[in-house]
Amino acid sequence: MAKRVLVSGGAGYIGSHVSVELIQAGYDVVVADNMSNCDMTCFEGVKKITGRNDIPFEKIDCCDYESVDKLFTDFRIDAVIHFAAFKAVGESVAEPVKYYKNNLMSFLNILDAAKSHGGCNVLFSSSATVYGETDKLPVTEQSERQPATSPYGNTKQICEDILRDTVKATAVYGDEVMPGLDRQGPVKGIALRYFNPIGAHPSALIGELPRGVPNNLVPYITQTAAGKRECLSIFGNDYPTPDGTCLRDYIDIVDLAKAHVAAVSRMLDGKMEEDYEIYNIGTGRPVSVLELVTTFEKVNGLKLNYKFAPRRAGDVTAIWADPSLAEKKLGWKAGRTIDQTLESAWKWECHLKETSR
Ligand code: UDP
Repeated sequence: MAKRVLVSGGAGYIGSHVSVELIQAGYDVVVADNMSNCDMTCFEGVKKITGRNDIPFEKIDCCDYESVDKLFTDFRIDAVIHFAAFKAVGESVAEPVKYYKNNLMSFLNILDAAKSHGGCNVLFSSSATVYGETDKLPVTEQSERQPATSPYGNTKQICEDILRDTVKATAVYGDEVMPGLDRQGPVKGIALRYFNPIGAHPSALIGELPRGVPNNLVPYITQTAAGKRECLSIFGNDYPTPDGTCLRDYIDIVDLAKAHVAAVSRMLDGKMEEDYEIYNIGTGRPVSVLELVTTFEKVNGLKLNYKFAPRRAGDVTAIWADPSLAEKKLGWKAGRTIDQTLESAWKWECHLKETSR
């Protein structure tokens, strides 16, 4: 019988790509989403790409414990990949309570249900934002985390810690440790620290669907190229980098999705060396904002309207991954080229245009 993976937030950008790769790798998937930041476009796309019309979809809010508990009762869940969270850095600064409440409560409920239902493997979607500003580059998993600069970033750090502590407690925890306590199922955990996920599935049936004005670079680029935005502002060209613009590690969304399959397989196949493991998921190649823009123009045969603008508050100068641990332990490494990724991003934007989105 195929192992089943619960994908919370599975109708969103990353969750939908991960669902496709899981299904194509032979796993059964249950998608749970409260649809607070997406519509059914990507879930429908997942069904089309995989040719599977029978993927269970549960419209639930993970902040509601009863709903999460029911999910674990209705389905045998072998692993959870938890995406269900708010992700806009700027909004989190303006509305910290909203962010802490949603991002912490949904994850706490998942963990509570996981340990109450006999234990589970839990993969948490974390972020390179936990590393903050550092001049020791590239960052390894041993690099120290810096104090978060936004409530959003802080929720990633706190959730990593909650997972680490839960894993530790459920490994030893039982009535022999604290008389009277109910025995709980063991939780094993992996946190994946993503760098900058970009692009779309090569089929152009799923991709990023930003609401309103995009905050992130690539959707802003594709919307400008499509005429939805007038001009891209490149935030800062006076950074101490080769061309003055910031350096990031842009990871193809399908490569990123495959990293989840590798991590889930490691958990389900009993290959973990520690009960809680952390991996950087990036390419190991720094790319500047300007380079990304000119590569986008080159591979898609377009001219982009852009201008240099002042630095954006909170941006770090440069960050990229040392992804060698993921290669060694997960047998995963990024395979797609930046050209392929930027072609896929444009193809997705064109698909949206054709469908009047
Ligand atoms: N960026 C930019 N213009 C935009 C959006 C982003 O110049 O309209 C730059 C931003 O300053 C950063 C890089 O693109 O250097 C990546 O930003 P993004 O928001 O995509 O991801 P982040 O690295 O902040 O998580």
